[in-house]
Amino acid sequence: MKIAMIKNFILFFILTIYSFGQSQNGLNSITKEELFQTVTYLSSEELEGRLAGTEGYNLAADFSSDKFFDLKLKPFNGMSYYQDFLIECNEIQNPYKFNLIKNDEIVNKYQLGKDFAFRGFTGSGDFTADVVYCGYGISQPKIGYDDYSNIDVNGKIVMVFKFNPSWKIEDNQWTPATPRFKSKVAFEHGAKGILFVSFPNDENPQKPIGSVMCGEGEQLEDFPQLHIDIPVADEFLNGSGYNLKGLQTKIDSSKQPFSVTLNSQAEIFVKANYRKEAPTKNVIGILEGKDPILKDEYIIIGAHLDHVGQQANEIYFPGANDNASGSAAVLEIAEAFVEGRINNKRSIIFILFAGEESGLKGSQYYADNPIVPLEKTVAMLNMDCIGVGDSIMIGSGQSCPNLWNLIKEIDKKYYNMSVSNTWKGGGADAQPFFDKGVPTAYFVTTNSYPHLHLTTDKPETLNLDLYEKMVKLVFLTAEKIANGEYEREDIIVN
Ligand SMILES: [Zn+2]
Repeated sequence: MKIAMIKNFILFFILTIYSFGQSQNGLNSITKEELFQTVTYLSSEELEGRLAGTEGYNLAADFSSDKFFDLKLKPFNGMSYYQDFLIECNEIQNPYKFNLIKNDEIVNKYQLGKDFAFRGFTGSGDFTADVVYCGYGISQPKIGYDDYSNIDVNGKIVMVFKFNPSWKIEDNQWTPATPRFKSKVAFEHGAKGILFVSFPNDENPQKPIGSVMCGEGEQLEDFPQLHIDIPVADEFLNGSGYNLKGLQTKIDSSKQPFSVTLNSQAEIFVKANYRKEAPTKNVIGILEGKDPILKDEYIIIGAHLDHVGQQANEIYFPGANDNASGSAAVLEIAEAFVEGRINNKRSIIFILFAGEESGLKGSQYYADNPIVPLEKTVAMLNMDCIGVGDSIMIGSGQSCPNLWNLIKEIDKKYYNMSVSNTWKGGGADAQPFFDKGVPTAYFVTTNSYPHLHLTTDKPETLNLDLYEKMVKLVFLTAEKIANGEYEREDIIVN
């Protein structure tokens, strides 16, 4: 061996050991204790469920930008970590009422968060009115299906299934199953309010959840929307000769509408403060690459910081898994890169998105207004609900196989926690990036959703060992991509 070669070999050896040490320092700085601490703060009552457009979300954004500042990440516009935009926002006030009335007497006073939840985009109202069961709440007379034919809902409250049927009439598409669309249909038939109910015939019927997903359309500011529990629906049906299971079975087996006037009334009082354009923001920090050429290429590490807020100052949705877990991970990974003195050649953009819960608003806003050209973004790593469950799933694998295989290899070497299931396309906040050709990987735990959008989505439900491994896997993945061990691939759309 020539001297120069030996020198080179020794240098290579030292560099390898050194970068291994850096990687190890980075890894060691990621701890379940720190993750838990951040999740606990983000899901605390003080932040009131982090609804985009509210003070609770702004506190979460301040907390995150302070962290970026401490880590000396670069503000994306040289001054601020905030990418401002406007979002629809609705806040439900206290007091409220939802009671069952029979023969002019209150039979039951229902409890918020247990018997029912308001839909996030409920309108206001103060009335007592008859309740009419209206099946799926679909009115498509052109295809011969109309839950509103032969029944009078004028001045009444309709009770409808939250979702659309699993069957179709020939090849016809149903109108959207969004709360806003079903409310509009009910309103146009003269109804004053709507009670959504889950399918009683599902194996695990969905509980009333907190949700600000409303779909396209205008806000009906004087039209209350509630999601009621199945036993509550049955109390309204009591005396009609039907129960909810029987009604679903009857409609599904005949594929014919079957609406019923009930001899029950509901007393509803709700006041909501609706703003069409409330200010909110994504939080963005940049860690510059150390290679003079590769630093102009970027990796995005993202998660949504927002959740579904509080209702009537009485209940709030902590969103510990959804998605304080992913948000805390973004902060922890940023810290691992900085404190581990990782020699990242490519630049890394850390983003916390607002408005995922009302329809990917923040990630869409970024994808439409990127701070660097999206063609220069090599990959987008999304984390959403990564703290509960028992193994790791990496989405987008069928569309971005090279990226997926890289992650699978790292996982195999270090943790062996990932399953072989994956999917086509981006999903959630990865979707707007995927739609614009950026390779994505979506990290989520399996069996992640037992508390999804419930008041029980709390830090103590997290599987901290799994969570820590997940965050380390994302860090190791980002490190490899940052060091050029992955080249942007053409994503497979079909
Ligand atoms: Zn969610």
